[in-house]
Amino acid sequence: MTAECEPGNSFRPSIFWWSLSLCIPLELEESFLWKLDQLDIKRAALEYSSTNKDELILRLWLPFSDWSHLDRERLIDSFRPLGNPFDWSLHDAVWEKVVDEDWSQSWKRNWQPDPIGKNLLILPSWLEAPALYSERTVIRIDPGSAFGTGSHPSTRLCLQTIEINPPCDLKVLDLGCGSGVLGLAALNLGAKQVLAVDIDSLSVSSALKNKELNGFDEGQLTVSLGSIETLESLLGGELADLMLCNILAPVIEKLAPKFESVLSPSGRALLSGLLVDQAPKLKQTLETLGWSATAMHRDGDWAMLEASKSKAA
Ligand code: SAH
Repeated sequence: MTAECEPGNSFRPSIFWWSLSLCIPLELEESFLWKLDQLDIKRAALEYSSTNKDELILRLWLPFSDWSHLDRERLIDSFRPLGNPFDWSLHDAVWEKVVDEDWSQSWKRNWQPDPIGKNLLILPSWLEAPALYSERTVIRIDPGSAFGTGSHPSTRLCLQTIEINPPCDLKVLDLGCGSGVLGLAALNLGAKQVLAVDIDSLSVSSALKNKELNGFDEGQLTVSLGSIETLESLLGGELADLMLCNILAPVIEKLAPKFESVLSPSGRALLSGLLVDQAPKLKQTLETLGWSATAMHRDGDWAMLEASKSKAA
């Protein structure tokens, strides 16, 4: 499984890259994602180790000419404190010089059709659906540089939940759409219309490309650069029935006060991308805003909350 970190506008083409591979314990996934975000390192992927279920392999790609030996040593040093709470000491960091195309191609070789829930299949756009999965509803994805291959637990939690309770004929929002995987799944499961936004322009292009790949038109899936305010203006005074939002917990907390500007009082939100121990704080924030968490779903350390307008509000 591969979970890519979101790319930012700071990316610029580079002919050579430094590629770093590092084994990290599963518990450090969130700390590393946070650290990479702080360092503005966008070209990164987390793979679940095939040999040790308690480990992840973190891969980073850094522009070759910008990262001296000293910079790279300092980077590794900045990772060390993350391991302190878990008694983990950094080992086996492997640096390699790679050519440009390796970054985009290397993980593609390992990405396979990914069955999710009872009936969904995330299919890398360059592959044919295997006969074994011929009955499944196919969502074709080329994530490009965007997050959202569908394999990350936070994405899977959303996909499994909308499959169980399909958004038939609903107006759906995909806030932080990445590759567009959640909005595309919603359309495949009967949504009337999806409005998707992301603050990252590469994600917007990726979602637009995936809209085409899956044969949806602009009326069915609108993708725009922006955040919840953009959704509000796309809605033009209307309110949506369901919001899918898989972003990190602190970001969701900041966005929560604006939920009521886009979601109908009878609407529902699926809030993912949080760790199990971040859920109580988010629940509390939601409650003070008149929303309540009606269910929590878990996949390992990851959690997803279902929220709706609290009756008491
Ligand atoms: N929806 C996809 C991608 C999730 S990754 C999936 O479930 O797999 C989270 C995405 O949220 C990234 O693409 C990131 O660029 C975007 N994002 C982060 N902060 C945001 C914000 N404040 N508003 C909108 N999008 C945001």
